[in-house]
Amino acid sequence: MINVFEPALRAEELDAVKKVFESNWVGKGPLTDHFESQFAAFLGVDRNLVRSVSCCTEGMFQSIAMIGAAPGDEVILPTISFVGAANAVAAHGARPVFCDVDPRTLNPTAELIERKITAKTKAVMILHYGGVPCDMDAIGDLVRDRKLYLVEDNACSVASRYKGKACGTFGDFGSWSFDAMKILVTGDGGMVYCKSPERAQQAEELLYLGLLTKSGFSTANEGRWWEFEIGSFGRRAIMNDISSAIGLEQLKKLEGFIARRREVHESYDRMLADVAWLQVPPRMPLHSESSYYFYWLQMPGGVRDRLAKYLRENDIYTTFRYYPLHWVKGYGSTEVLPAAEKSAQETLCIPMHQSLTNEQVEKICDCVKAFGKLL
Ligand SMILES: *Cc1c(COP(=O)(O)O)cnc(C)c1O
Repeated sequence: MINVFEPALRAEELDAVKKVFESNWVGKGPLTDHFESQFAAFLGVDRNLVRSVSCCTEGMFQSIAMIGAAPGDEVILPTISFVGAANAVAAHGARPVFCDVDPRTLNPTAELIERKITAKTKAVMILHYGGVPCDMDAIGDLVRDRKLYLVEDNACSVASRYKGKACGTFGDFGSWSFDAMKILVTGDGGMVYCKSPERAQQAEELLYLGLLTKSGFSTANEGRWWEFEIGSFGRRAIMNDISSAIGLEQLKKLEGFIARRREVHESYDRMLADVAWLQVPPRMPLHSESSYYFYWLQMPGGVRDRLAKYLRENDIYTTFRYYPLHWVKGYGSTEVLPAAEKSAQETLCIPMHQSLTNEQVEKICDCVKAFGKLL
């Protein structure tokens, strides 16, 4: 079976984990601190603005908590979003208000977001679909004019840039995911970016039991090092030195991962661009850099489902990301969002990861074309 997503963990990561075992310090420690610094450097932001977190979902929960979203507030997010984003809103008693997306990029636009703004709107949460940056000039202007918080779900866009600036660092908060299906994989893990160092400090506290003082061996309290104080009723949602050791190795390889994904993307473009019954992803503006997280094909709805089945029978796994959240009954939405609804019927994400071989890419394209002959 050719996987649709796949982690690329090799000997370097295993060696790094071995060293952590040998050090006998497997909890949150110096490697996690180093991973945060290196990740901030990769983003091109101050180290004090970035903190590690157990997963991206937790980062989004904490971001929504820190903006103070509560019952009576609305948070606008694209319906093509990850379930954890809407849960973060709803869990705080605020209402997730779903907006439509561009039918080709599946990204929200400033215009589509603006249509959903009411007097109750507190924040906008965006997702850079498949790693392609949203139009951040227009969205940035909109949230500034309307004085709304901006929260970025950056799980798709670890290495994406818009006009040179890292995605995830445009808003008040950004969250990254390093789970098993992402580009940079640590097993589970993530990062949170906060616009101010004070907020990042608050995040650190919330993510580690609300502790204000470090207790234990490294404490400044020479006399009674078991004493502590809290500033909030925090949870415990941290990364540890095992996953951070993996993250540090993955970060070194990230540029290579993206380069390979770009090659795969370009091969698909080259081999599938002139297939009449489908559309390849639209060209990106020159000022944007993608992480090439998804490669998606679009075709009439009935055909999409048949293609998915045909490819699966040929040992090629595909999927559709992300099932529209306004269709999930649990959120109680009554929205009608035509472009997202159409895209959800017509879009198929085909295998995209850095370990795909040229032979596999060719097999996938040949299979897609062979299916076309059956139409
Ligand atoms: C995977 C994913 C998440 C969740 O990340 P976790 O680290 O697993 O919590 C959030 N948003 C998007 C868009 C994702 O793809």
